[in-house]
Amino acid sequence: MPYEGEYSHYQPLKRIVESERVQQLLRRSRVLDSSTITQQATPQTPPIADSTLPSLVLAIDGSHAEVDVRNGYPGAKIGYCSVASVVLNLTEVERLDSKRPVNPINFRQTEDPSSDASALPGCNVITRDHLSAKDSFREAVFELFHDAIVDEEDNTRLLATYQALFAFKPAGTISCPYAHLGCDRQVTITANLSTCSCEHRKPLFPTDALRIHERFNDDSGSNGEAFGYVMSVWERLLLIHLLRCFEQRNWLDRLNNIAFFLDGPLAIFGPPAWLSAAISRELQRLNMVVREKTGNDMTIVGIEKSGNFVAHFDEIDKLEDGGQLFQPRTYYMPTDSYIKQRVIFSDSIKRYGADTYFGRKFFYKTKSGAHIVASIPFLTPEQDSLLNDDPSLYPRFGTVCALLDKLVTSRFPNALSPIVSAHAHASIPLHLGQKVLKQLAQALMREGG
Ligand SMILES: [Zn+2]
Repeated sequence: MPYEGEYSHYQPLKRIVESERVQQLLRRSRVLDSSTITQQATPQTPPIADSTLPSLVLAIDGSHAEVDVRNGYPGAKIGYCSVASVVLNLTEVERLDSKRPVNPINFRQTEDPSSDASALPGCNVITRDHLSAKDSFREAVFELFHDAIVDEEDNTRLLATYQALFAFKPAGTISCPYAHLGCDRQVTITANLSTCSCEHRKPLFPTDALRIHERFNDDSGSNGEAFGYVMSVWERLLLIHLLRCFEQRNWLDRLNNIAFFLDGPLAIFGPPAWLSAAISRELQRLNMVVREKTGNDMTIVGIEKSGNFVAHFDEIDKLEDGGQLFQPRTYYMPTDSYIKQRVIFSDSIKRYGADTYFGRKFFYKTKSGAHIVASIPFLTPEQDSLLNDDPSLYPRFGTVCALLDKLVTSRFPNALSPIVSAHAHASIPLHLGQKVLKQLAQALMREGG
């Protein structure tokens, strides 16, 4: 296999694309024939937003990086994962907005960051009495969720939320993670620490059920993929964790006033994908309580900054005559058939993303003209479908679009200010304290709502 970037040294990429072998492969592959397209995006005006928009936005965003370390073993690496949450006070942003230009220091005061970080063993980093980097990594993932206490005043561990979701996991076994010691058993992972029954009596962690270690390379190269899964699971667990903390503190009736923004799609990919269905069940349970208390759904939005849907939205908005398909303040919510014909080719009768998504995507062009690919969760069994593009199924849809109009930042055209801000905090390797619930409590008190 060539090294990354190697091709560029000896022949331009253009010549590779033009080469006979590449052209032969292309001739054998499917091309989207524009004359056969039956699925068209039809931009619509979103429904009217709720009379009062949430005044607080809580954004969750993580980052991960891998660094080389020196421990005497070649190629040793450590992964650094962090997840930040930012509470943004929209009322305050608007007050400052009305007195443009906004002083950046004042704008900073409308955000309250809180972030948490963890270092994970990578290739050739073996901790304690472990016999492999993979085992060290497995233990570190367990410790991350075990040790992560989201709030100084609330001792509930992130692990407790993981265990609550674990209860929804379908029964099943995994290959024992100690195959490298000669164990060939299929083992059942439980919600608590257990031990493999083979003669080694090695520990099995509840987080082994995420099976992220199956994508971990012990002896060579990067573990960016595994660290990416850890970060994505951590971000989504934190969302559920915060909602459960709200429930425990009897704050669910305040949710009319808070919108949650998550970086990336409302989905969990790869080996831990079973968590997606568990998260969906827990969201539906919580939303039933919220509906009883407030008469409305929770406001939760995932924002995608890259990928096929982002590229597709950019492409369909350019018309041949130089015009644009989407007017400002219009949306399109792709159905299953649209996605399979236009975005991710599939002939399958299985719904797009059935095993991975707990929400559905839509394209929205904001008032300022920015393209946003967002998703909203399936909060009721009726919402859990891609057949219909009727927004009235989602009572918060108009509100979400109105929030997107307000949050699009002028600094980063197609990104949202709280997400950009949470990302900036997650990228700073500083321990800023774990106090997001405390910040929310203070903000809710200030709002009095
Ligand atoms: Zn075993």
